[in-house]
Amino acid sequence: RPHIFLATAGIAAAIIIMVAIAVVQNKPLQQKYKYGIVLDAGSSHTSVYIYEWPAEKENNTGMVKQKQACSVKGPGISSYSKTPEKAGESLKECMDNATKTIPKHRHPETPVYLGATAGMRLLKMENDVDSKKVLASVEKSLQTYPFSYQGARIITGQEEGAFGWITVNYLSENFRKASRTVGALDLGGASTQITFVPGQQVESSDNSIDFRLYGNDYHLYTHSFLCYGKDQVLKLYLEQQIQPNADMTDNIILEDPCFHPGYNIIKSFQSVFDSPCVKNLTNSQKGQNFTHRGIGNWNKCNQAIKEVFNTSHCRYSRCSFNDVFQPPVTGRFGAFSAYFFVMDFLNVTPDHSLDEAKKILEAYCTTPWGTLKQKHRKVKEKYLAEYCFSGTYIVSLLEDGYKFTTNDWKNTEFIKTIKNSEAGWTLGYMLNLTNMIPAEAPDTPLLPYG
Ligand code: AMP
Repeated sequence: RPHIFLATAGIAAAIIIMVAIAVVQNKPLQQKYKYGIVLDAGSSHTSVYIYEWPAEKENNTGMVKQKQACSVKGPGISSYSKTPEKAGESLKECMDNATKTIPKHRHPETPVYLGATAGMRLLKMENDVDSKKVLASVEKSLQTYPFSYQGARIITGQEEGAFGWITVNYLSENFRKASRTVGALDLGGASTQITFVPGQQVESSDNSIDFRLYGNDYHLYTHSFLCYGKDQVLKLYLEQQIQPNADMTDNIILEDPCFHPGYNIIKSFQSVFDSPCVKNLTNSQKGQNFTHRGIGNWNKCNQAIKEVFNTSHCRYSRCSFNDVFQPPVTGRFGAFSAYFFVMDFLNVTPDHSLDEAKKILEAYCTTPWGTLKQKHRKVKEKYLAEYCFSGTYIVSLLEDGYKFTTNDWKNTEFIKTIKNSEAGWTLGYMLNLTNMIPAEAPDTPLLPYG
């Protein structure tokens, strides 16, 4: 039977060649990976991140990478306060995906963490019972999967800031190389965080976090401004704009410089002012509507936005705003989440100076609403309508809020990913909870990355 002999010889030869290639490349035949899952339950949406790392190299920083991100359909979990069981259900599709992505034999050892951010911080302030029901619902859902469930909780603003900073610096390999770190700027829907290694003492203990990572001590400054994420700050801003008319009972027209000429939409007070970030509505306002009319005037928009930052009091040697201590910003910054979405849409890049960025914003804000809708048919209308406000807010937050100079702006990069892993608090959170960044550097010299 010569053909059987030939086939067997062929297979044997193929195996010998594969082994020879593996030996020459000095690689094990099959890389073994371990996995971790983190759910980022944000104010507007939830994302499920799967991370992977080589099984034998857990303590080598720079080894953990994002394998997959799944965007949960529907709104953020805090929106399910009146139908909590739906919060858990909403996670099903992405979690089913995760069971397919992660090899079955790794399921029992794969940790799953859910961290909820400012949307849930606000719900907790408004209604503690409702927030507990939502967390119980997502917990119940996550426990039905074959992974190692590690808990669902609302993380603090300090954690959100610090873990975002760890993520960015881990992915940039700044710990391993003991190079200068970069500051982290995170903008969500309900809160915003600033975190960096300051050049001076942090005067308030709330804003100070110390880490020992890889044999180096890091003293961080961090602050999370609740209600200063881009959706909640829009409510603060609209409240200020509408205030002089607030007692009028009918036909309230808000002429808004941060919205485009030709934008003319009837909105209910309830839909805009349904948040603990703004004052309670009066009973008469509850059922009432107003006309939101854009006039597209960037200078006026910029002036009006500055008023959301209260700089009249500072109990420390220096403050950003709202009586919050902040040392002068220093070094390079990575700005991610909504900082990136907004600046990416507006085509503002690191090559643009601060003045050029303002010119781009001015041109965008004055563009008629009809023209924009024609030009960007695929962009969600809500985003399209709000980029003028959000972009102007971002520039003002950096310049008027955090006191960025034109030079600090030059040192700021708007980023979505670093080496294909998304910038955000989730990776840092997992690295911390799985002890994957050792406090001390290992004795043996590190292998080169990759
Ligand atoms: P959070 O859900 O709290 O993490 O906040 C994310 C913020 O980014 C929300 O304000 C979202 O509306 C906003 N966002 C997400 N995708 C985009 C996008 N493509 N353009 C503009 N804003 C976005």
